[in-house]
Amino acid sequence: MTAYERCRVLLRFADLIEQHADEVAALETWDNGKTLTQSAGAEVPMLARCMRYYAGWADKIHGLVVPADGAHHAQVLHEPVGVAGQIIPWNFPLLMFAWKVGPALACGNTVVLKTAEQTPLSALYVASLLHEAGLPDGVLNVVSGFGPTAGAALCSHMGVDKLAFTGSTGTGQIVLELAARSNLKPVTLELGGKSPFIVMDDADVDQAVELAHHAVFFNQGQCCCAGSRTFVHERVYDEFVEKSKARAMKRVVGDPFRNGVEQGPQIDEEQFKKILRYVQSGVDSGATLLAGGDRAGNRGFYIQPTVFADAKDDMKIAREEIFGPVQTILKFSGVEEVIRRANASHYGLAAGVFTRSLGAANTLSRALRVGTVWVNCYDVFDAGIPFGGYKMSGVGREKGVYALRNYLQTKAVVTPIRGAAW
Ligand code: NAD
Repeated sequence: MTAYERCRVLLRFADLIEQHADEVAALETWDNGKTLTQSAGAEVPMLARCMRYYAGWADKIHGLVVPADGAHHAQVLHEPVGVAGQIIPWNFPLLMFAWKVGPALACGNTVVLKTAEQTPLSALYVASLLHEAGLPDGVLNVVSGFGPTAGAALCSHMGVDKLAFTGSTGTGQIVLELAARSNLKPVTLELGGKSPFIVMDDADVDQAVELAHHAVFFNQGQCCCAGSRTFVHERVYDEFVEKSKARAMKRVVGDPFRNGVEQGPQIDEEQFKKILRYVQSGVDSGATLLAGGDRAGNRGFYIQPTVFADAKDDMKIAREEIFGPVQTILKFSGVEEVIRRANASHYGLAAGVFTRSLGAANTLSRALRVGTVWVNCYDVFDAGIPFGGYKMSGVGREKGVYALRNYLQTKAVVTPIRGAAW
């Protein structure tokens, strides 16, 4: 296909997503349990937006000419990598589809995408829309399957030229190893996190409480970049803690298809039980349980919005990724201290900084060893902004111009300017 044709297919696909927005959103909620408000208001529009963003790139990917020494014409060509293997998780099925498939197709690759076993539906449906938009058969192949079988087969396959994986850090390590032991295919990884959300003493407390609440509870707390370590300056700590408790207790949990519901069920029984084990460990280690702490209702995998205060850095709830609706609040007293404590993690995906001081914002943004710093905002995911992790939160970046590099080979072609070399 020409680059322009690829661009047009992706644009038509974005239009079809919007025409079928109701079905796509309903499938996502059905599959995952996230609220319909979120699926329809965020995920579906972001999927369409991401496709249009990469449609715009399709015919603007070009190489360059190098002014080589001597009488040689040196060109650099950017070619598609070939077959991209992509493995996505269950927490944002549509968005992960967008971040993986958009750049891969814009660059002219073919794709084999494995969805998570918990959430196979929405990707299958939107893949059919992509074919309706004019994508030839065989260019995008969606495989529903389990990790250790279908996923591992993709990682080890000698015919796969590149792997992109989003999921847990432990699985990311397996993926990297399988890629290395087969054909050394390059791998990009988007993994877990334990992101700090830092509230300075000059913050407007009401606003900080609301944003910190959103940073951790969004998507049932099942976000790789959840602001799950809430660091609060001692001067505003007591007020912040009281208001965070009240906010969590007001959070509406229930049927995700119902209007006004803020939080649906967790993805499955395994995650549900794991989260409750973390809550128990918080209680056992001496953190103060202010709100929640148990399942919500007696049916389904609903969990009460839970808030712990007075947590210490060495507690499990402050170190490990809970991936559920559990806020862990920690007290600090100075900038240097909070930088040191925030960075004392194997993870480095994201951070939030809430302050009125430009100096504090700039200092923290530069000192935090993370892939994204949101200052006075959180979870802003424009298609053009790169996303990815430092340390054990990942390798490489997705979105924006940075994702294109993951799907292109660089080839140098050198010819004598006069034609024959002899
Ligand atoms: P997971 O690692 O268990 O599964 C993710 C995907 O990997 C699934 O499709 C699964 O089938 C597949 N998989 C599992 N075992 C495999 C194997 N041996 N070989 C190949 N593939 C295999 O993760 P999960 O529990 O489904 O998702 C939650 C995790 O994903 C969290 O840790 C979260 O932080 C992370 N995550 C990260 C990002 C990011 O962008 N950094 C985004 C979303 C989720």
